[in-house]
Amino acid sequence: MAQNYYEILGVDKNASADEIKSAYRKLAKKYHPDLNKDNPEAATKFKEINEAYEVLGDPQKKSNYDQYGSAEGPSANDFFGGRQGGSAGGFGFNFGDIFGDIFGGFGGGAQSARYAVQGRDISVKVNLTFEEAAKGVKRDITYMCTQECSDCHGTGAKNGTEYTTCSTCNGTGQVNFTQSTIFGRVVNTGICKECNGTGKTIKERCTTCGGAGVKRSQRTTSINIPAGIDDGQTVIARGYGEAGVRGGAAGDLLVNISITKHPLLRRDGFDVLLDVPVPFTVAMFGGKVIIPSLDGKLELNIPENTQSGTILKLKGKGIKQLNKNSYGDMLITVKVELPKLGKNKKDIKEMLEENFPLDKFDKYNNYNKQVKSL
Ligand SMILES: [Zn+2]
Ligand SMILES: [Zn+2]
Repeated sequence: MAQNYYEILGVDKNASADEIKSAYRKLAKKYHPDLNKDNPEAATKFKEINEAYEVLGDPQKKSNYDQYGSAEGPSANDFFGGRQGGSAGGFGFNFGDIFGDIFGGFGGGAQSARYAVQGRDISVKVNLTFEEAAKGVKRDITYMCTQECSDCHGTGAKNGTEYTTCSTCNGTGQVNFTQSTIFGRVVNTGICKECNGTGKTIKERCTTCGGAGVKRSQRTTSINIPAGIDDGQTVIARGYGEAGVRGGAAGDLLVNISITKHPLLRRDGFDVLLDVPVPFTVAMFGGKVIIPSLDGKLELNIPENTQSGTILKLKGKGIKQLNKNSYGDMLITVKVELPKLGKNKKDIKEMLEENFPLDKFDKYNNYNKQVKSL
């Protein structure tokens, strides 16, 4: 279980997006390492704050966190060791809007990591059967994705080493430039166009990626889809999306779950529902019916005198709860079926009316009493 992100940001669980953003900005300003050079604890605190905001500032991750106690949602904790690569600055592109405001005025200090761009997320859809979703399943997902070029390790230079420090920006990746405005000349800092913010000049380009440092190719990622996942939910494989640029973190692979309808079974949360037609003779005298279940076919005992609409419960025969070791139930609704009448219907009517006069029907008589009293 991750730390309590709400406590870290000092906000209430019901705080609005604006309140969360505002709390984050205050704390980020207070604990920014550049402003706390004498306080080593500030860096840790700053990291915590960023981690908390990375989750609470993102509606999807926040919803996962609220629901499952982790930003990744179900299961991701089990098999993904965190974001690949990691952004050089300790925070990714998402924070650009906020950091632009806060640190725009600080000047200096920024390094090329400032221009790191996080890779984009990739969404894929995965269809599961009812049983696969209930029991969990491992799926190999193949998709097109930009990845760091393995021949140059993302540098874009031949052998990964054929580069020199950019002479325009002296390796910082940024340059100062003056702009004439109506207020006079203003000095601004921007990305170095010579080296595109990398701080490096490539002597000879990598032949595999043509100097881009990334390469688009087919990728296969094995995803453990956790038992209990429901239609419309998303499993997030962090860092398995598009490669980042200039040290930026890779995006995520978002696996959107779609569950095929089962011909008989339905689902309500973690309970499995089934309507079963039962011949009136079986409902009356008791008997057995075969039912489908997550554990295969089962023989269900119908007790004597089971009324239509009765719900029989098989405890623990439902769906495993996400990230918990408990199970829902199976709820079987008995639908008593009357037979089609044949040629002998006159005889049967007489026989039944003789054996089951109307005073044998308690609920019916009770109902009539109530109707009368209205
Ligand atoms: Zn390359
Ligand atoms: Zn440069």
